[in-house]
Amino acid sequence: MEEKEVVSKNFIEQIIEKDLEEGKYETICTRFPPEPNGYLHIGHAKSILLNYGLAQKYNGKFNLRFDDTNPTKEKVEFVESIEEDVRWLGADWEDRLYFASDYFPQMYEAAVKLIKKGKAFVCDLSAEEIRQYRGTLTEPGKNSPYRDRSVEENLDLFERMKNGEFEDGTKVLRAKIDMASPNINMRDPVIYRVAHMEHHNTGNTWCIYPMYDFAHPIEDAIEGVTHSICTLEFEDHRPLYDWVVRELEYPHPPKQIEFAKLYLTNVVTGKRYIKKLVEEGIVDGWDDPRLVSIAALRRRGFTPESIKMFVDLCGVSKANSSVDYAMLEYCIREDLKLKRPRVMAVLDPLKLVIDNYPEGQTEELEAPNNMENEALGTRMLPFGKELYIEREDFMVEPPKKYKRLYPGNEVRLMNAYFVTCTGYEADDEGNVTVVHCTYDPATKGGNAPDGRKVKGTIHWVSAQDHVKAQVRLYENIIDEEKGVYNEDGSLNLNPNSLTVVENCCLERSLKDARAYDSFQFVRNGFFCVDARDSREDALVFNRIVSLKSSFKLPAK
Ligand code: ATP
Ligand code: MG
Repeated sequence: MEEKEVVSKNFIEQIIEKDLEEGKYETICTRFPPEPNGYLHIGHAKSILLNYGLAQKYNGKFNLRFDDTNPTKEKVEFVESIEEDVRWLGADWEDRLYFASDYFPQMYEAAVKLIKKGKAFVCDLSAEEIRQYRGTLTEPGKNSPYRDRSVEENLDLFERMKNGEFEDGTKVLRAKIDMASPNINMRDPVIYRVAHMEHHNTGNTWCIYPMYDFAHPIEDAIEGVTHSICTLEFEDHRPLYDWVVRELEYPHPPKQIEFAKLYLTNVVTGKRYIKKLVEEGIVDGWDDPRLVSIAALRRRGFTPESIKMFVDLCGVSKANSSVDYAMLEYCIREDLKLKRPRVMAVLDPLKLVIDNYPEGQTEELEAPNNMENEALGTRMLPFGKELYIEREDFMVEPPKKYKRLYPGNEVRLMNAYFVTCTGYEADDEGNVTVVHCTYDPATKGGNAPDGRKVKGTIHWVSAQDHVKAQVRLYENIIDEEKGVYNEDGSLNLNPNSLTVVENCCLERSLKDARAYDSFQFVRNGFFCVDARDSREDALVFNRIVSLKSSFKLPAK
């Protein structure tokens, strides 16, 4: 049966196409609206690529807007890191970079407009009283005693709020909607509060700040956003979003659409846990390669393409679900396997001496950079009498199925010759220190003219001509599913989350590897030069991912 590729549209694309067909909007505009209060993570990548992808697909616009309306938690440092991450993912906002705080004057005017329409009032109840008046899911709320203030009084009080005449927490501006609404968000929500705080962008210009539910629809409307895509927890806020854009009479009101957050399993994603790991120095920063912030994934060696593939595979849905970290690993393997050179690196070196190789002789052997992708060309490998092989590729007394080196056995040295093990040396404790072998000069290139076969192929580097490097191997640091804390309250850390391997021997071609360069180290995985710690004369590589996986793509 011939397989047909079915390209089904996700529910957001269906909504957009209907809106365009019906002429509701001429073109679309989406946005990514991060609050600059932390580093972006893989979940944000989904939101970024979704919003940018839709704008691309429908020839629309994509805005990067910092939702910086809450001065308590926001920092310029985060603005810079977020821009870098969004750019790295390939989401191009062109000249459409906005800050919600630039709209504070319009937001103030919008509030005044609501007051004038009798749709907002200044309330003197304390935060605690407002909570009590709000009612519960099963009981309606009660009207505030200040609800019926006149428009004039409200205008006067709101202006004085702005002028700094009132202390924090003594007055708020509330939308006048319906205290009996079954949706608690519609029970006269607070839309402005007094907060004498300095803002990273507007300084001390304002001492009143708008609440998210009021500010966000205004930001969208001002920028001409058509489809305001957010995560599911805002579903219950949508009636308020619609109320704000309706009451403010925007000619082309934006539309809020919710989708399910992306959850990754087997990794730590919670911001507060990551913060703890950073503050306690357990990881070396927000970009520690064991984390899944975008900066950490980049440093580990993930590519934007692999993250895009991952996000596409996850799809867009209304149902919360979680995805295994193994799927992200699958994506990076798929992305790199044809793109990157496959080189030889010995992580745990053991000396191999070819006793019948002429003393003092060396030669250069040509090897393909990627057997599955000829376009990557070839390189020359230095070869000689003394090599390093992986310690685990030799055994004195091998188990039955072992195909690598052991006394009497012949194997292929990758890209080089057949060698037969003739013996070994060991220290007083029985640790093997040197393996001896002979080579067959007729097998140059890795094939025997007489057609004889060998079962094992092992990798190697020249003992004389190689580069040393530190290699870091990673496992997940905390598994949120298994519990973040131990019974005694300490963090439940995986003791094997980082293994530092010193003095690995890498083939000569890696000596010029620089930050973010990545390679397949044959049989060991994909590795990337650490952008923070690697030096020209002291290379450091991160293992991005091993080569093997039990992960299977879910059937479509
Ligand atoms: P967190 O609390 O995890 O840091 P956030 O929602 O507070 O996330 P924001 O800066 O407010 O972070 O989010 C910016 C955008 O990213 C929002 O539109 C939000 O819906 C989206 N987003 C955040 N987390 C995820 C996620 N896990 N999956 C998809 N989108 C997400
Ligand atoms: Mg947030």
